[in-house]
Amino acid sequence: MTAHNFNAGPAALPAPVLERVRAELLDYRGRGMSVMEMSHRSKEFEEVNADAEARFKRLAGVGDGWRVLFLQGGASTQFAMIPMNLVPRGRHADMIVTGAWGEKAHDEAVLLCGSRVAASTKEGGYRRVPRRAEITLSPDAAYVHLTTNETIHGVQWHDVPDMGGVPLIADMSSDVFCRPLDAARFSLIYAGAQKNLGPSGVTVVMLRESLIASANKDVPTMLRYSTHAKNNSLYNTPPAFAVYVLGLVLKWLEDGGGLGVMQAFNEEKASLLYSTIDESAGYFTGHAEKGSRSIMNVTFRLPDEAKEKAFLAEAVAAGMVGLAGHRSVGGCRASIYNAVPLASVQALASLMREFSRRG
Ligand code: PMP
Repeated sequence: MTAHNFNAGPAALPAPVLERVRAELLDYRGRGMSVMEMSHRSKEFEEVNADAEARFKRLAGVGDGWRVLFLQGGASTQFAMIPMNLVPRGRHADMIVTGAWGEKAHDEAVLLCGSRVAASTKEGGYRRVPRRAEITLSPDAAYVHLTTNETIHGVQWHDVPDMGGVPLIADMSSDVFCRPLDAARFSLIYAGAQKNLGPSGVTVVMLRESLIASANKDVPTMLRYSTHAKNNSLYNTPPAFAVYVLGLVLKWLEDGGGLGVMQAFNEEKASLLYSTIDESAGYFTGHAEKGSRSIMNVTFRLPDEAKEKAFLAEAVAAGMVGLAGHRSVGGCRASIYNAVPLASVQALASLMREFSRRG
């Protein structure tokens, strides 16, 4: 039986993608082996790599002037690579912190350059994104960094404010391609693949070529964007199998009608859970304020920890996996990324209704 997979990442992959991987596992297109076993210098893999890059650019709606890189080290390595490459000596980054991941990005930038908190919603317990008036930008910042979706707190930006002329950088690890992307607003976006894009092991960085050209030169080779851009992400041995599966996930997104269709589907799933919370007469409490609710990670609490424990146990018995909140905040979290089917969300919503009726 297939599990109802609410894992936060690694997370559910689309069933048609897994079926395709299975079909090609012992014999990729007549080559007599899997993509895992091929040289990354082969014509076959170069095609896989180029196809994934082209699909990412098409879905993001960008053309020349942008590069898509497939890197390793997770989004966590980007917390360091971004300041190392893009903050000139003596300058600083402005950080907007709306949850645990933004905090980590800020902490890392502090180690490497000046890093200034331009806004933080920590005081209220990370329940919302800041209003524009609460963001104090400094005109000489090298860039502004924000996290479009805070995976642990379930807080998402739905309308990114104008940052003036300062380049905007976004960690989109847990909501990339959950809806159409207005790339013109950004200078660099990045995402670990293991939530909306594919298996873990590959991190996508999409950035403007102009940033690569003006980046700091005194950066170790593997941590320089220019190294990977010059070599089409094939400077060293890439996470070949992860890039192959990522390409299949992007194909699934395109074949399914693209990001507008995906957004409608994700909103349908999220509103099913949020309406279950709102109609529970206070039995369930959503963590995020309504205007900042994530359509990817739905975070909520029950009346007390004993009930949360009992609810999570019933969920497991009903085949639902991954619903415990992150260990740092507790409670419950349903991660409902692109590949999570409506049927899983319906099953969860009805368990929530039934459990709350019992009291
Ligand atoms: N940013 C966000 C928003 C995340 O959710 C995560 C992982 N959960 C990370 C960064 C860190 O990603 P990685 O584990 O790929 O380093």
